[in-house]
Amino acid sequence: MENKSECPFCQINKLFLIKEGKSAFVQLSDPCLMNGHLLIIPKRHVERLSELTEEERKEILDLTVEFQDKILGRFASGCDVRQNCRPFLPQSKLKVDHLHVHLLPREMEDELYLKSMIFENEIFRDLTEEERVKFVKLFGL
Ligand SMILES: [Zn+2]
Repeated sequence: MENKSECPFCQINKLFLIKEGKSAFVQLSDPCLMNGHLLIIPKRHVERLSELTEEERKEILDLTVEFQDKILGRFASGCDVRQNCRPFLPQSKLKVDHLHVHLLPREMEDELYLKSMIFENEIFRDLTEEERVKFVKLFGL
């Protein structure tokens, strides 16, 4: 993002704030994909995981563990953790380049599954031998 003053995550919005830590905070996602959808956000504007300091990485993972447990213990039977890196998409209300981790409360055959993820079953396929060799080599093993 060219102008960080326009970044919705560079300023903590107290209306949505759940917990503020030293280098990261937790807030309700707005817009949200489902009830109880949370975001864990570093205070510093970074776009990629590799730009996080060790302290930020630790705090973000600790908050992820803490709030996944709260979601699972209080109101949902499942919880997805996601972090999207899609610099090829333009900025919008649904795409913010300030790194954030999504916590998505999940239930069996919930709205997200029925409207979207059900179609993943058609995309999943067996890995070919050529792909296996290519990606094992690409990732350096
Ligand atoms: Zn930002």
